[in-house]
Amino acid sequence: MDEIYKKLKDFGKVKLNEPMSKHTTFKIGGPARYFVVVEETEKLVDLLNYLSQKGIEYYVLGGGSNILFQDEEYDGVAIQVKSQKSKVIPTGHQYSLKSQVIEVEAGALLGAVMGLAMQNGLSGMEWSAGIPGTIGGAVRGNAGAFGQATADVLEKVEVWQDGEVVEFVNDECEFVYRGSIFKENKNLIILRAWFKFKKADKAEVLKKTQEIIAGRKGKYPIYPSAGCFFTNVAIEKWPGDKSELPPLFVERGKVPAGWMIDQLDFKGKELGGASVGAEHCNFIVNKKEATRAEVLQLMEEIKEKVYNKYGVELQTEVEIF
Ligand SMILES: Cc1cc2nc3c(=O)[nH]c(=O)nc-3n(C[C@H](O)[C@H](O)[C@H](O)COP(=O)(O)OP(=O)(O)OC[C@H]3O[C@@H](n4cnc5c(N)ncnc54)[C@H](O)[C@@H]3O)c2cc1C
Repeated sequence: MDEIYKKLKDFGKVKLNEPMSKHTTFKIGGPARYFVVVEETEKLVDLLNYLSQKGIEYYVLGGGSNILFQDEEYDGVAIQVKSQKSKVIPTGHQYSLKSQVIEVEAGALLGAVMGLAMQNGLSGMEWSAGIPGTIGGAVRGNAGAFGQATADVLEKVEVWQDGEVVEFVNDECEFVYRGSIFKENKNLIILRAWFKFKKADKAEVLKKTQEIIAGRKGKYPIYPSAGCFFTNVAIEKWPGDKSELPPLFVERGKVPAGWMIDQLDFKGKELGGASVGAEHCNFIVNKKEATRAEVLQLMEEIKEKVYNKYGVELQTEVEIF
């Protein structure tokens, strides 16, 4: 029997030649030779140690909601992180009466953490309502919405780094808009995170969350996607005349990629099975069994036209693997 397959069973449930299209919200991706679902942080650490010691290639994913995976077979170990324990650190500990901390494992869904915060009347992550994916993915990409982001509430993270488990406090995470040190360094795997919340009225937290959900309703495509495909452009980097932009963009300090794409009449444009979202132009969707190659071709067309018209080089928010 395959030695690696046998060994991987020590860490979680293992599948051979598992289509990654089943584990990404884009529903795109060829088979991973080994696919292992890990539910405990300690086992995740052991697995990462084993793979790095043996020099076996691996790819870590959480909810698969920000990835465009390769169509070809992946000849390594795809690790799905599903460690999901979370707890509110009791008041009277080191934290004041006005704030509380939630400790959570990397595989917990953002929505679950939000739910826990809501039950406990903790405010700070209402903006995350409706964002799919895990805490690991959110920290790594500094996920955010409505002008707020993960970095605003994160206190510290526990990380696997070359065989050691270490902590990074917020300042050490090098957060930027939709990025962090973890995005730049694939050898840093997020294991656990601590988020600081403000104590608030439960009904207020619920109301805010409902408003966020209502604000998102109908704005996102119905077809599979990986969220916004490109990052928005900071106003300081806008190469053109800012006075010609809608004033709201200047006020918010960002020019939305979706606006530029819309101005170029890409809305609903199809290429093979891929298409630009009809509801939101910064989404590329998998309308009819799209391949990664088709998505990338559409991406290139968009980038070229945006560059030619605005002089902006769009950067991808989606992880292209
Ligand atoms: C319909 C839709 C709406 C969305 N709306 C938003 C939005 O409003 N705001 C926003 O910011 N995003 C949004 N997204 C994108 C996505 O949900 C977020 O980026 C999310 O945080 C990704 O988390 P994930 O667990 O799915 O990451 P994955 O897609 O699994 O992984 C993304 C990257 O993170 C890495 N990664 C995952 N887990 C770990 C870990 N534990 N340690 C180290 N690296 C890790 C992966 O290797 C990969 O490179 C949306 C996506 C969809 C499909």
